[in-house]
Amino acid sequence: MEGVSCPNCGSDAVVPIVYGTTTPELAERAAKREIRIGGYAVGVDKPNWACNNCGHLWK
Ligand SMILES: [Zn+2]
Repeated sequence: MEGVSCPNCGSDAVVPIVYGTTTPELAERAAKREIRIGGYAVGVDKPNWACNNCGHLWK
């Protein structure tokens, strides 16, 4: 996606992590592995990207 690749395994099966309210649309996209649901993460260093290949999370 947009040239982003995983710094851990090099895969381009990378999806953005979406925080906040989980809408039905977001849940559907997450089920298709287009995004990952981050839920309500408070404060500190929240990762922005998730790798569908190895599960690595990063900013
Ligand atoms: Zn990876």
